[in-house]
Amino acid sequence: MSDRLFATDVLFFQRLLKSEGFYKGALDGIWGPLSEAASASFDAGYDALKSELGTFDRRTELHIASLSMRAQREARQFMHRALSRGVNVKIISATRTYEEQNRLFRQGRFGNAGNIVTKARGGRSNHNFGIAWDIGIFRDDGSYSTDASDYTAVAEYATGPLVWGGDWVSFPDPPHYQLATIQPKIAWVRSRFENGEAYVV
Ligand SMILES: [Zn+2]
Repeated sequence: MSDRLFATDVLFFQRLLKSEGFYKGALDGIWGPLSEAASASFDAGYDALKSELGTFDRRTELHIASLSMRAQREARQFMHRALSRGVNVKIISATRTYEEQNRLFRQGRFGNAGNIVTKARGGRSNHNFGIAWDIGIFRDDGSYSTDASDYTAVAEYATGPLVWGGDWVSFPDPPHYQLATIQPKIAWVRSRFENGEAYVV
């Protein structure tokens, strides 16, 4: 599962899994037995969390699978809390490789079609380190809510080590949740991620 998710970017996969202790090999971007072993351990952890905490809609599951194991646990607990109180919530975005982030950054810029949706290039977003996800809230008729108050209402279900993007002063981002990092500076987190070192609290 995890190997297929990041198959086009082995180095990204190695960094993510090394920072959580699953991968013991060199950060060389080459798929070998240690990458295979890390992938198997990661998948076992993913399956165990599904059994322990339950599963959700297909889209949410797809995005949870792209998160670090710590973030997967928190995301499932968050989803469970929000759904059990009757909020129709889904996880609509989670981990992006640097390449995927750069593609998103180009949208709406440099003459490319679409609206600008991010201010971050690859390696400049917490979505690039396996610890962040964005939610969508859906109304009874299935339509997607853009009403800030709907997002504020579920923020109370973010407990423990979770940071809510709506609390950010300069760029409030109410659909965004992530694990707290040991240091808040993105350059520090990026450096730790790229070296396969731990960065979450
Ligand atoms: Zn986000």
